[in-house]
Amino acid sequence: MKQWEQYFRKVVPYVPGEQPNKPGMIKLNTNENPYPPSPEVKKAMEEFKMDQLRLYPDPSSTVLTEALGEVYGLKNEQIFVGVGSDDVLATAFLTFFNSTEPILFPDITYSFYEVWAALYNIPFETIPLNEDFTIRKEDYYRKNGGIVIANPNAPTSLNLGLDAVRDILEHNRESVVIVDEAYVEFGGETALPLLKEFENLLIVQTFSKAYSMAGIRIGYAFGAPSLIKALNDVKYSYNSYTMNQPSLCYGAEAVRDQKYHKEILDRIMKTRTWAAESLRGLGFTILDSKTNFFFASHREVPAEVIFNELRKKDIYVRYFKKPGIDNFLRITIGTDEEMKAFIDAVSDIIKEQKAF
Ligand code: PMP
Repeated sequence: MKQWEQYFRKVVPYVPGEQPNKPGMIKLNTNENPYPPSPEVKKAMEEFKMDQLRLYPDPSSTVLTEALGEVYGLKNEQIFVGVGSDDVLATAFLTFFNSTEPILFPDITYSFYEVWAALYNIPFETIPLNEDFTIRKEDYYRKNGGIVIANPNAPTSLNLGLDAVRDILEHNRESVVIVDEAYVEFGGETALPLLKEFENLLIVQTFSKAYSMAGIRIGYAFGAPSLIKALNDVKYSYNSYTMNQPSLCYGAEAVRDQKYHKEILDRIMKTRTWAAESLRGLGFTILDSKTNFFFASHREVPAEVIFNELRKKDIYVRYFKKPGIDNFLRITIGTDEEMKAFIDAVSDIIKEQKAF
């Protein structure tokens, strides 16, 4: 080991889903939206003036926070934006979780929470889900340094009702509660109505899924002005210009086009309904998804086998080799055509495997 290496920060990084790029592949592994972003974004791209790149972007990202504020009925001082919700969540962990008490989150959830906690030396405790993968709200009625709930949860796809979220907030008036709503538009219940009642609530959402803009990297948080100010203070302590000028413009256009946004959500939810039925017909157990993905397990063929066989056919889904979920696949909901091709391939794999 080199002398200086002892001073390196030792981390075990989060591993994102692979990003293969093969012609004709079916990519259902990272919960991207199969439809293009709003046509208004395309127009804004065509009209974007190169000269704007000469200048630094507005550090307060007003173009984007104003558009979000108009659509979601909030003031600028209640909105924080970042480079994807990963950036927003990482900043929130750094800002709010400085207690010596552990922060709490479910044992099966977005695995980045553990990585940020480790990165920032935040003590944490993971709370087991019920056997049916639901969250037991009573488990969060205890002393803590903060709470993080993904709702709907990932990779389980299950929604926690608003009453349960309210209960968790009512029992935790002393710490910040983050509700990560990356998938909420696909049939979940947003905690937005609770913002008026709880000054310690931070809601985090993203452009990556429901706005079909994972490639542009925009996430945002809604919360009381005191929380948003604290987030901005931390942001300005390491990088004033996190958001680039094109992202700010395109994001604002995307959020203003609610009609298109609702249309593509509707399409994905319709695909979800028939695809779930077809998969159940093939012997899969599918949890009641309120997201743009399925969490699925087959009665006879192990998930890892299906995952590997699909891969051979250039069909990509996500498999987590982790206790408790190692017989499940997370399958992003694609277009009708993609889902038909996926279901045909899976059906063949199951037949082949059963014949063994
Ligand atoms: N939260 C959850 C629960 C997620 O699944 C993801 C996507 N990996 C994110 C946050 C981060 O998404 P993004 O950074 O693209 O906004």
